Amino acid sequence: MKAAVYEEIRKIGIKEVEMPRIEHPEDVIIEVHRTSICGSDLYIYRGDLHETMSPGKSGVGHEMVGTVVELGPRVTRYKVGDRITAAYSVSCGSCHSCRLGVTAHCETTNKAVYGFGGAFGGLAGSQAEFLRIPFAEAHTELVPESITDDQAIFISCNLPAAIRGIQNAQIRLGDYVGVVGLGTTGQLALRLAAQSGAARLFAIDKVESRLKKASETGADTYSANQPDIKEQIMEQTGGRGLDVVIEVAGQPDAFDLALSLLRPGGVYSGLGVYVGSEHPINIGDIFLRDLTIHTHGFDNTQPNMWNAIRVIERGMIDPAQLITHRFSLSEIANAYEIFDKAADDVIKVAIHPK
Ligand SMILES: [Zn+2]
Ligand SMILES: [Zn+2]
Repeated sequence: MKAAVYEEIRKIGIKEVEMPRIEHPEDVIIEVHRTSICGSDLYIYRGDLHETMSPGKSGVGHEMVGTVVELGPRVTRYKVGDRITAAYSVSCGSCHSCRLGVTAHCETTNKAVYGFGGAFGGLAGSQAEFLRIPFAEAHTELVPESITDDQAIFISCNLPAAIRGIQNAQIRLGDYVGVVGLGTTGQLALRLAAQSGAARLFAIDKVESRLKKASETGADTYSANQPDIKEQIMEQTGGRGLDVVIEVAGQPDAFDLALSLLRPGGVYSGLGVYVGSEHPINIGDIFLRDLTIHTHGFDNTQPNMWNAIRVIERGMIDPAQLITHRFSLSEIANAYEIFDKAADDVIKVAIHPK
């Protein structure tokens, strides 16, 4: 079968690899119908995780929907032919962390993530024709018929993350809510915030096409390239600042900007993925302004997968509207290149393995 592999920094290739097989009684094998590229895949692509990847071997991709083609003997929840989606992080469902709902920190799998190389469990990636799903009953959901493959890929990662970002944001009726970083998860968080009681939305990004997409929600848009962005937002909020900022950029300058925009007592809800770097925080400023800080980039997806299904089924949100580009698996190098450059007004890239 064909699978996308990490070849070297900024090079994803397609290789003929062995078919996955059942290795443990709790495994299932799925034929991948649809997969996608996530903002966090760019950390791999750009080489930030180079030391965890085996060039020419490590598979990539962690978002997927597919059909069960083979089951381990202990799997009773599914049958061959069922359409399922899995959380990006593999959790066992029975360890201390899993029972607390902190599933990304599963003690059995030790932070295993599909397609993130040796440091994250050395698992295959979803950007492939078939995928083995370990502990299959613990971090997957059956996809209802009413949900399309295009919608289902968002249940692995982006939509549960956006839901958690909204939960942590503690939006109150009438709040001024900012979203910094308008990639896929930022766009989803903005759309959910619009339905969570925000009086006014402030959408902030450096990329013009993302701001245009964000404006569909009625949000005021601000280019993060403007040096006086803080002054502009202060002027629009009576000099007080925002009640809540959801930050989905995963860049130190975005973190600083988000905190600087908050009113005293405001809430920072972070969904951005930060990898490895140190960054100074002014603890005195956070204390004196009584800020609440939540970070949730390494998201515990599994507890919110069912919620994600519910908000799609009930029509609150159609995440598939964010898909701007489609590629076959063989075109994946091109897909990564466009996504990496934020070129051609890209928001979400869907990959069709068949
Ligand atoms: Zn993802
Ligand atoms: Zn566990």
